[in-house]
Amino acid sequence: MSAVNLLDFDPEGLAAYCEAIGEKRFRATQLFQWIHQRGIADFARMSNLARSLRAKLADAAQVVAPPVTSEQVSADGTIKWLFDVGGGDAVESVFIPEHERATLCISSQAGCAVGCRFCSTGHQGFSRNLTTAEIVGQLWHAEHLLRARSGRDERVITNVVMMGMGEPLQNYAALLPALRAMLSDHGLGLSRRRLTVSTSGVVPMIERLRDDCPVALAVSLHAPDDALRDELVPINRKYPVVELIAACRRYLERAPRDFITFEYCMLDGVNDSLAQAQALVELLCRAPATRIACKINLIPFNPFPESGLRCSPRERVQAFAEVLRGAGLVTTVRKTRGDDIAAACGQLAGEVQDRTRVRERFAGRVLPIRVMGAPLQGAGR
Ligand code: SAH
Ligand code: SF4
Repeated sequence: MSAVNLLDFDPEGLAAYCEAIGEKRFRATQLFQWIHQRGIADFARMSNLARSLRAKLADAAQVVAPPVTSEQVSADGTIKWLFDVGGGDAVESVFIPEHERATLCISSQAGCAVGCRFCSTGHQGFSRNLTTAEIVGQLWHAEHLLRARSGRDERVITNVVMMGMGEPLQNYAALLPALRAMLSDHGLGLSRRRLTVSTSGVVPMIERLRDDCPVALAVSLHAPDDALRDELVPINRKYPVVELIAACRRYLERAPRDFITFEYCMLDGVNDSLAQAQALVELLCRAPATRIACKINLIPFNPFPESGLRCSPRERVQAFAEVLRGAGLVTTVRKTRGDDIAAACGQLAGEVQDRTRVRERFAGRVLPIRVMGAPLQGAGR
């Protein structure tokens, strides 16, 4: 039997595991602290655990993150790691140091089945869901490596965003324990607002997350109406924009002082007109409901060769932002980080064994984007 990986457990799961091996549940607290707060994987070093328990764990369990196969450091301090998750699949994490915070962007799947037109991961297709240990292992590895490098025993990573490869809400069973492990006071103790799940809009799972673990929510909107969003973010055909916004409003009922972050990737000539900005204002501020508590994050499109798309010119991004701000919507333009190591949003590619034939669909151009009946500029090269 292969050893149980303790990174697969949230605190409750670890307590149940302790019980199952004939130990008291509270041992899980000590174990969790050794693993997550101290970064210790060697049971022999867990000095406040009985020798017999240490021996039992050494026999049956392990603490392992997926192996790192490469590390790239950007001129701006951003670091990208490639984790080998076996079977020819590899996923990426990105560490982004800023003035007062340090964010780790982690992956939830090897590839992604949503297939967004402007996303490098989406173009790669989908291989499989990551396990909880593979999700948490990215943070565990990064935090304890960076802490050791800093030479100080202080926490390095202050924020985690699930904005790497994959659609986290299509891997809910592994995501939920991973979130709970990251939030636990016996682990890194991230606060609910410093842990962000980003989704393309899996409406029923937004509802589940609200009930189970309402962390900060980012929603990748990218278009103000169904016609365009259907093309850019294909899951919109299943969960249209109005339903998505309604789910966001319900999400906030559980966290009334929070806000939703709407991400909007700026694509030249596709979704960046002033009329589209106005339509976005209508969508988010529409009567009879009041304006939804939100921030809008405009992301300059990060190009990759197969996309056939271009980023909106800087002035257009600013003009678009001004329309939103004029309507009272808090709007920021994301600074691109780590672009010299292809670590910016949507550039994470890792290595994915495409088991869904998404690549073929893109190659066969079954998903050409059309705006008002005309093929897009730059599309379908
Ligand atoms: N699947 C989730 C989380 C991963 S993508 C989601 O879609 O939200 C993280 C963010 O990067 C999303 O907002 C996504 O739309 C954006 N993104 C994807 N490709 C991009 C690109 N090429 N340039 C800029 N942003 C991109
Ligand atoms: Fe998947 Fe998100 Fe990329 Fe869309 S943007 S393909 S949902 S990872």
